[in-house]
Amino acid sequence: MVSDMNQPVPRPGILDIAAYVPGKEHAPGVEKVYKLSSNETPLGPSPRAIDAFRQAASSLELYPDGQAMKLREAIASVYGLNPGNLLCGNGSDELLGLLAHTYLGAGDEAIITEHGFLVYKIQITAAGATPVTVKEHDCHVDVDAILAAVTERTKMVFIANPGNPTGTYLPGSEIRRLVAGLPKHVLLVLDAAYAEYVRRNDYEAGLEIVSENRNVVMTRTFSKIHGLAALRIGWMYAPAAVIDAVNRVRGPFNLSAPAIAAGAEAILDRDFAHQAADFNVSWIHRLTDEFTALDLKVTPSVTNFLLIHFPDEDGKRAAEADDFLTRRGFILRAVRAYGFNNALRMSIGTQEANLGVIAALTDFMGQAA
Ligand SMILES: *Cc1c(COP(=O)(O)O)cnc(C)c1O
Repeated sequence: MVSDMNQPVPRPGILDIAAYVPGKEHAPGVEKVYKLSSNETPLGPSPRAIDAFRQAASSLELYPDGQAMKLREAIASVYGLNPGNLLCGNGSDELLGLLAHTYLGAGDEAIITEHGFLVYKIQITAAGATPVTVKEHDCHVDVDAILAAVTERTKMVFIANPGNPTGTYLPGSEIRRLVAGLPKHVLLVLDAAYAEYVRRNDYEAGLEIVSENRNVVMTRTFSKIHGLAALRIGWMYAPAAVIDAVNRVRGPFNLSAPAIAAGAEAILDRDFAHQAADFNVSWIHRLTDEFTALDLKVTPSVTNFLLIHFPDEDGKRAAEADDFLTRRGFILRAVRAYGFNNALRMSIGTQEANLGVIAALTDFMGQAA
């Protein structure tokens, strides 16, 4: 490529990034739309969070607390942590980016997995480093594949546990095996955006694993079970040295005051979160059974979404199902960018939305080819 000296030129790699494409929101011409494409909760946030948000409207002229102390103390009290090991971000997306920009540079490698969250690759590349993608095993992160890909250039490993869009998880024992096999200078990022939904005894979001190691961090979000995606709030639990480094890089007021206030109330409302998890798990089971009975293959999910695989037959493929569902107002997520050419991801919605998708997919699968 001839470099053009007549205009500013981004660093090498920046223009190779495929920008993140959010879930669709519209179904043209359809009166009622059910957006099931971004894993948002159908239950909204805790009423306590909404009240706190409204109250914050009375002092919008003031800068927020740059330490987000109220929010960090609320998180610390719920999980029994030291607030000094917590750092909040403008969504966990910001934290993933800050980690990449703090620890990666040109010549470094960071390992991600075949169906991993696309934000990792974007942030690794934006930091000037090289993403190294390893295979998953039957929609599960493969610890051996990650360990086999480590070179002297490896600086970070990013995994979502549970995974998105797979909805699968690795037990704590596997994460511990991964940590044991990684060189001590390689930072492992455990993205536990869906941790609150998981009902498995052998799952660990990573709190203890972070406490026991100097090279593991866990990120969490308020965008999913807490229903505050619009406010952009994430948090990270990390060793003090990691918090110290990232604090130097982040913007001084990276969370807004309404976000700090609403987030603190949301996380303290434990009943609300438990009810949301109960609602979710019953629908995960029911929808998995219904779709399986239609001869669709569903990857077993511990999250608030399902990965639905369609038959490789004319008239029955995922793209055709996507059009069919969209015409009825049900917006699911195409997952080609995640390496699934013939699948759709459905977020658990309201009862009305879920029943509607069951009815629509029953019609779709029943129609003559
Ligand atoms: C939704 C999601 C997040 C959360 O992102 P926010 O920036 O906190 O809204 C993080 N990781 C994964 C894997 C997700 O699916």
